[in-house]
Parts: sequence; C-alpha cells; structure tokens
Amino acid sequence: MSVIDTLPPLRDVIANHQLSARKALGQNFLLDLNLTAKIARQAGDLSQCDVLEIGPGPGGLTRGLLAEGARRVLVIEKDARCLPALEEIAAAYPGRLQILTGDALEIDPLAHLTPPIRVAANLPYNIGTELLVRWLTPAEWPPYWQSLTLMFQREVAERIVAQPGSKAYGRLAILAQWRSTARIVMSLPPEAFTPPPKVSSAVVHLEALPAPRYPADAAVLSHVVATAFNQRRKMLRAALKGLAPNIEEVLEAAGIPPTERAEQVSLERFCALARALKA
Ligand code: SAM
Repeated sequence: MSVIDTLPPLRDVIANHQLSARKALGQNFLLDLNLTAKIARQAGDLSQCDVLEIGPGPGGLTRGLLAEGARRVLVIEKDARCLPALEEIAAAYPGRLQILTGDALEIDPLAHLTPPIRVAANLPYNIGTELLVRWLTPAEWPPYWQSLTLMFQREVAERIVAQPGSKAYGRLAILAQWRSTARIVMSLPPEAFTPPPKVSSAVVHLEALPAPRYPADAAVLSHVVATAFNQRRKMLRAALKGLAPNIEEVLEAAGIPPTERAEQVSLERFCALARALKA
C-alpha cells in the first residue's frame, strides 16, 4: 500500500524550510513515506490510541502514523526549525497532531496524552538509550504506554533483545525483557536515511506485559544489574562485593554460583538476587 496524504514530498519540505541535517541533534531523516508507513504499522492498531513521537524532524514518521490512522499524535521536537513543516501536517490532519517544542528529556508528555498510549519514534541516537531506560523503569507497572516502537542503531537493538551468554546481553536486555516482550521487527541500511549514518539501524517493538515476569523491586534490580555488568568479566562475588558484606551468601540464596559472570545469569536469577538483596 502506498501512502497518502496531500502534503508535498519530504524532499521538497526539507528544501522549502531549509532543514539541513544537524549532526549534534542526531538528525538522520527518513524521507520515504512508504517506509515510514511500514514503521507505523509495526506499532499496531493506532486507531484507538494516542501516539507519542519523540523527534519528528520534518515529519516523515508523523505522516506515516497519521496516515495509518492514529487517533492523535503528540510530537516533541527540539529543533524549532522543524515547526513550520510540522504545522503543515497539523493543518492537513485537523485536531489530530499536537506539537511541543523542547527537549524530550525535560518535558513530561503525560498531561497531553489520553490512554491508551503507544510510543513510536526514530530516536535521536544520543538520547535513545536514556529515553528507553526511563520508559522501562517506572516504579509502578504497567506503565503509561502499551507499546514502544523505536528505531535504534542495530547494535543497541541487539542489546535490547539479547539472551544470556551473548556479548550483547546486559542491563538493557534485562530491563527490557523483565516487564515487556521485545522483538526486532525491521532492519534498515544506512541508505534508508538522509544523510546516511555510519551504521545500520533496526526497529524494536516492545509490548508492556501486564505484570513483571518475576517479582523484584525496580530500583534494586536496576542497580544490581548495572553493578554486575559494569565489571562483566569479573566473577559476581567480586563485581558485587560493594552491595553486601555477605555477597557470596546472598548470591547462593538466589541460586547463583558466586563464581559466575554476569553474562551467564538469567533474568529470573537476577530478579531472585534483587529480592535476596532487599530481604
Ligand atoms: N523522525 C524524523 C525522521 O524519522 O525523519 C527525524 C529523526 S532524527 C533521527 C531525530 C530527531 O530528534 C531530529 O529531528 C532531532 O532534531 C530531534 N531531537 C534531537 N534531540 C532531541 C531532544 N532532546 N528532544 C526532542 N527532539 C530531539
């Protein structure tokens, strides 16, 4: 299916509004509207949802989300140069696009959104991981979002879906898989973007689970995993010795041999360790 709105092609939008890409803002734009519609479709049925999009730039993915039927889209864009292009989209979809300008790390979008909420974004790479960790680590679960459909550098996407025993396995895999399902749903070569980045990219789709797979305190789990993987080549009894004076006993109580390395430990065991540390 090809997309379809009455707006000008994105190359013209960029030329008309002089939106030369800025590296410091992680600007690698998607200009193919069939591709952005395909990404939007990975986000699921949007017709009953508000969609939060971070970093719309000239609006390629925004147009995909709206053309695919999103009930409403809220965008947060730091680069004020993109505003006129986004306002043209808002005019073409009356009442369905709200634009906030500013830093997504500083703005709380919740006041502007009505559940159910899905998140979709071709993220600026410099803040992508930070935003993902924030979405994954609220104290309460389920979170405000039903799903996250996010573009990352391929290597980061692989860390999100990684399994124990692999080099990519670490904090991101554990935080993502503890309370969500996470899948790589698309792979994109550098040439899909303008300008092309140095590396390949991938879209990851995460669906929030109604409850965590295993009980644990989010802050304790996050801290223990960060500490364990900070020294991933050390045995856990050494890597975690700052967490408890009797760390070997705590590890054994969680069913983890103290000589094991973080890379080998399953999500279930890390949750048991977080519980044992809190006990
Ligand atoms: N979504 C557009 C697309 O797919 O073509 C642009 C994606 S580009 C990779 C990232 C976008 O995020 C840019 O438009 C950039 O200006 C914006 N951005 C960078 N840092 C940001 C921040 N802290 N808050 C909000 N937007 C940001």
